[in-house]
Amino acid sequence: MTAVAGTVLVLNSGSSSLKYQLLHPDTGEVVHGGIVERIGETDVPDHKAALRLVFDEFAARGLDLTDGAGTPAGIAAVGHRVVHGGRSFHAPTVIDDHVLSEIRRLSSLAPLHNPANAQGIEVARELLPQVRQVAVFDTAFFFDLPGAAATYAIDRELAQEHALRRYGFHGTSHQYVSEQVAAFLGRPNAEVNQIVLHLGNGASASAVRGGRAVDTSMGLTPLEGLVMGTRTGDIDPGLVLHLGRSLGMSIDEIDELLNRKSGLKGLAGENDFRALGALIEAGDEDAKLAYDVYIHRLRRYVGAYLVDLGRVDAIAFTAGVGENAAQVRADALAGLEGFGIVVDPERNAVRSGEPRRISPDDAPVAVLVVPTNEELAIARDAARF
Ligand code: AMP
Repeated sequence: MTAVAGTVLVLNSGSSSLKYQLLHPDTGEVVHGGIVERIGETDVPDHKAALRLVFDEFAARGLDLTDGAGTPAGIAAVGHRVVHGGRSFHAPTVIDDHVLSEIRRLSSLAPLHNPANAQGIEVARELLPQVRQVAVFDTAFFFDLPGAAATYAIDRELAQEHALRRYGFHGTSHQYVSEQVAAFLGRPNAEVNQIVLHLGNGASASAVRGGRAVDTSMGLTPLEGLVMGTRTGDIDPGLVLHLGRSLGMSIDEIDELLNRKSGLKGLAGENDFRALGALIEAGDEDAKLAYDVYIHRLRRYVGAYLVDLGRVDAIAFTAGVGENAAQVRADALAGLEGFGIVVDPERNAVRSGEPRRISPDDAPVAVLVVPTNEELAIARDAARF
């Protein structure tokens, strides 16, 4: 029996990187994980070479992922993070040729992500042909968004023909965290109304009623919604027209501007929250404005989702900023006592890797910090088959 029995290899394949983690889906114990970066720019020419490198690294640790592949002694499954599932996928799906070609077809909706995801799947199938490969979609949790939340008010026929609607992303995280929240409160998920704030370099908010997402801040693409590390979040679409028409910018230039040169980075030159904090400490006014814009947008979504849900039992902060930046949590919810929302400063200052309550025990709304774990959620989904 090798040490990898029952583990799941989780792969997150980007255009020039491959993140991987081998873990036990039941305990969450991580055997080993890491990232291969700058694929194509270095002596790692492509994703196949990257995955080979990963296998070599495991082998150097005495773990042969190919040994016993497809048998109880080997790894149980490979779980692939896939960004866009479009209208085709609403749940984790065992990958066959048809599923893979559908993921490729959806590249028109996620040109930066789906081709890379598909490539990762292709090489993993090739190198581990006996092992079940499962795709877990970032959009799946939002598949059933109510029509009112999912629909853009644009020409109906055009939208239908081209599948233009709000899809939402970070779904694996929103679902995982919302389940953790219910477990933390010791209540059935079906009874809990909550707002989940996934604040990382990418950021999104969701309103979850009884375990089902009823609204989310990202849309057709991950560009909509909250202010992010390098993305604008919500802007007037007229701004895009103006950039093209009056400033003569090309679509690619606008894409680059809105996705990579905006958000905190665009406003303050820094997308890392720690660096932003240091700038604010040093009196940098651009950094302060960037922070204020970030918080303003965040509060706007909290307000919207309070109204969406009507009754809110919990608000959960997660991801790099949400889990670590106490000031963001305090500022996001300041002055909302009238809504039953209170952040206790002492509890909020505690650092921990565990789910925790930062509101007073008797406050009507439980404010929680819940570490996300997308790899574990993907591993569990992949192991379920
Ligand atoms: P993620 O995308 O979830 O990995 O989150 C990345 C973001 O989390 C970056 O903007 C980091 O600046 C931020 N972050 C990580 N650790 C901390 C920390 N201790 N305090 C504030 N922000 C942090």
